[in-house]
Amino acid sequence: MQEYEGRCHCGAIKFSFKAPKIVDGLRCNCTICSNKGALMSSFLVPQEDLLVEIKDGALATYKFASEVAEHHFCKICGIYPFHHTLRKKGHYRVNLGCIEGVDSLKLPFDVIDGASL
Ligand SMILES: [Zn+2]
Repeated sequence: MQEYEGRCHCGAIKFSFKAPKIVDGLRCNCTICSNKGALMSSFLVPQEDLLVEIKDGALATYKFASEVAEHHFCKICGIYPFHHTLRKKGHYRVNLGCIEGVDSLKLPFDVIDGASL
């Protein structure tokens, strides 16, 4: 396991977690993921392992459809650092573009069929 740190663009939201070495990512074809175009982690981070530091109440949440998935974003810079997944309660996927030391543009990825969920 490796320790990773991430942040939104303005730094109002910082987070850290432990995960296996990041070698790939995941994209999803649901309406919101295709709008965002973010490369998300292929692994899930349990809520208790995701340490989040928020300044000035910057974390906002967008929900739609089933309202189970929670799409978190920074109210100040608009970046989307992580989401609470629909697939497993209490688990998060993180935006690999926000992780220090990870070049999300160079990682291979799979596409999940979130549109059918
Ligand atoms: Zn921000």
